[in-house]
Parts: sequence; structure tokens; C-alpha cells
Amino acid sequence: MTTGTPRYPSRQSDLPPPEVEEVDVLRVACDGAGGALGHPRVWLTIDPKVGHVDCGYCDKRFVLRGDGH
Ligand SMILES: [Zn+2]
Repeated sequence: MTTGTPRYPSRQSDLPPPEVEEVDVLRVACDGAGGALGHPRVWLTIDPKVGHVDCGYCDKRFVLRGDGH
């Protein structure tokens, strides 16, 4: 008795992971370049203890490269 159960197409609406960029400086600028999600340029500072910083506008993550010490 499987009646009235709508079968949605398997819609895995998982958002794509935010863009990640590896950098080797602690101070980076982001202006959202790379699509329609442009935003005013902001400067972000990576906390060396954290190792990355996320842009508050476009959620892009800047990862400090080579923290192997
Ligand atoms: Zn951004």
C-alpha cells in the first residue's frame, strides 16, 4: 500500500564547498572575483595559529600554505 508518497527526484542539494585558495602571506585581499558574487575588496588577515581565514562576503577560505612546522 504505497499510495500518496510523492517521489522526489533524488535531490541532493548539498552546497558546493566554498572556494579555497592557498596563500603564503598572512594578508590577503578578496573582492569576490570569480563569478557574479563580486563584492568590495576587503583585506583579510590570517591568524597563524588558526591557519586560515574566511571572507565574510563570499565565504571564500584562504588557507595558509605550508604550516608544517
Ligand atoms: Zn570574498
